[in-house]
Amino acid sequence: MTQATEEELANVAPIKVVGDKESKLTSLPTTKIECPKCGNNEAMWWFLQTRSGDEPPTQFYRCVKCNHTWRSYS
Ligand SMILES: [Zn+2]
Repeated sequence: MTQATEEELANVAPIKVVGDKESKLTSLPTTKIECPKCGNNEAMWWFLQTRSGDEPPTQFYRCVKCNHTWRSYS
């Protein structure tokens, strides 16, 4: 499993996904997954279509405790 670099995270973390949907951030679903940064075991998650529809969407997680954001590589 490949860790995303800090630079990659910086590109995605502020969340282009959000935009005008920012108010919905707090209502993102959560799942039990361990945060690689603080060890908390709950994180919000969502999908982001990174490029064209030719590629599958990437799943992102955001720790509910420290707001660390990372992506899941399937
Ligand atoms: Zn965390």
